[in-house]
Order: sequence, then C-alpha cells, then structure tokens
Amino acid sequence: ATPIALLVGTGTGARMGILIRGPEVLESTRRVDTVVLDKTGTVTTGRMALVETIPADGIAPDELLRVAGALEHASEHPIARAIADAATADGGAADAAVAPGTGTMLLGSSIPVGPPPAPRGLPAVESFQSVAGFGVSGVVEGRAAVVGRRALLAEFAIELPEAVERAASAAEAQGRTVVFVAWDGTAAGALVVADQVKPTSREAVAQLRALGLEPILLTGDNDAVARAVASDVGIDRVRAEVLPADKVAVVQELQAAGRVVAMVGDGVNDAAALAQADLGLSMGTGTDAAIEASDITLVRGDLRSAADAVRLSRATLGTIR
Ligand code: ADP
Ligand code: MG
Repeated sequence: ATPIALLVGTGTGARMGILIRGPEVLESTRRVDTVVLDKTGTVTTGRMALVETIPADGIAPDELLRVAGALEHASEHPIARAIADAATADGGAADAAVAPGTGTMLLGSSIPVGPPPAPRGLPAVESFQSVAGFGVSGVVEGRAAVVGRRALLAEFAIELPEAVERAASAAEAQGRTVVFVAWDGTAAGALVVADQVKPTSREAVAQLRALGLEPILLTGDNDAVARAVASDVGIDRVRAEVLPADKVAVVQELQAAGRVVAMVGDGVNDAAALAQADLGLSMGTGTDAAIEASDITLVRGDLRSAADAVRLSRATLGTIR
C-alpha cells in the first residue's frame, strides 16, 4: 500500500502545477544529483522570430526568404514557424485563401482533391522532407532546396561563401540560431532567428544548484549559441550539436558514470531521453510526446517548478522516514 504521505505529496504537487505520474516517482525525484536541461522551449521560450537575413552574393533577400518560407511552412519546428511567419508577414492574413486550381477538401466528403494550398505569396513545395535535428528539403518552383544547419548543407556537398559564414558566426556568438539556405546545389544565404531565455530560467538554475544538482545544458543547436544561453542562466556544462537520437545517449553516459539523472525537455526530440532519465520532467507547454514520456509535467512551463518538485519530494519523503 502507498503511504498516505506520498499521496498527499502528489496532491500538493498538483496544486502547485506539478503533475506527478504516480507516488513512486517521488523517490527518484529525491535521489537525482544531475539535471539535464534541453535548451529550446525549456530554458528558452522556444518562440523564435526572424531577426536578420544574410543573402549570398547575387541573391535577393526577398527571394531567400520566399523559398525558405515555402519549405518551412510545412515544418512544425519553432525555427520553421519563425521563418514561415516572416515570409508571409505581408500576405499571412490571406493564409486561408485557396489559390485557384489547388483544390480543397469538399465539405462533407473525405476525398482530398489536391495538396494543401500554399499560403498566398509562397510557392508550393513538392517532395517535402524533414530530417529531425537537421532541417528540411523539398522542390520549390523546380529547384531542389534545403534549409537547415551547416551539416545538412555539407551533406549535399554545398559550400558556404565566406561572407555568409562570417555573418553567421557573428550572429551565433550573440546566442542567435542561424539556419542556412541553398538551392540547385548552391548556397543562397542564411537566416538568423532569435529566441529568448525565459525570465525565470536563471533563478531556476540557481535553485537547482542550491539543492545540490549539477545543471547541464543539452541542445541540437551549435556550441556558440548553447554557450551564450548557458552563460546567461548560469550553467557551465554544455552538450551542444547533439542529434535528437543521441540525446538519450548523453543521459546514458551520465548514468554509466554513476549519476542519477533528471532530464527536463519539451520536444518530440526529447522524448527518448526523458524516458531514459531516472526522472523525466516535461514542460506542460511542450509536445504530447514529451509529456507522455515523462514522470512529471511542469504545467506552467516554468523551470522553477523543477526545483519545487525536488523540494516537495524531499519534504514528503522526510515525513515518512
Ligand atoms: P533543440 O535541441 O535545441 O530543441 P533541435 O534538435 O530540434 O534543437 O534542432 C537542432 C538544429 O537543427 C537547429 O538548431 C537547426 O539548426 C536545425 N533544424 C532543425 N529543424 C529545422 C527546421 N525545420 N528548419 C531549419 N533548421 C532546422
Ligand atoms: Mg526543445
């Protein structure tokens, strides 16, 4: 039978916006000594906005944004939303309009009569592909186009012009995320998106440290961006450029080294790591996949709730021992 105190603890948690899967979770919460924090959407808001376009020589900034926006319109990544929104900023309100001939779903019928319409002003995309942790590709107006991290362009043997690389590195050093755009085998430029550290993240990290937990920042984003965000919130251990499939390996490595690991994340790309961790905490503002894989959901999406959860478990179990 479950001690009453444990049930009371989970009930108290619920009132604090900390949803605990079951009373047994409190025991692993008490034991954690390391906390791995996903960057985008966990430490930062994950709401990104386009802040700069870096066209390659001979490319019009509008064209760069139009092709990238068309591709990103089909992706749900926060970076993608920022770029698609910026590309449709002038005609975005007309999103619902259906271009003639593209077809739509007939009311009361289940027969799709064509591909979903592209938002007005943006070209349609064929052969769309999304590679988790890398970016997207597809055919836009007959051109094979890609948008994503450096490694994605390298995959297609596309070289970055020096001027683009220089401007991109400068933006990254400021903690901004840069994605690169290419079509027809040639770099077309880069797009800079910026995210914001949540106002509560710094205090949350300090609280976790005060509880004796070592914080580690984990991200698929590059090292410069990761370090800038880490130093903003007071974290000194960073694991950057970790592919979605490898996030779980980072948790396993720490466990093999004897750590009892809590992982906090929000994305589909965090789900496996959340399940592997001794304690998985998801942001209530995150994806269903992350929430389902976790032991605790922080309803408010506030990282300080992670520290509250540790305090709660210690207080609850303290009353039992
Ligand atoms: P995080 O771990 O910070 O949540 P992800 O693993 O989702 O980040 O993505 C890692 C990197 O892959 C991004 O920083 C970006 O460079 C690239 N990327 C992923 N999805 C996209 C996309 N839809 N468009 C462009 N770039 C992308
Ligand atoms: Mg994330």
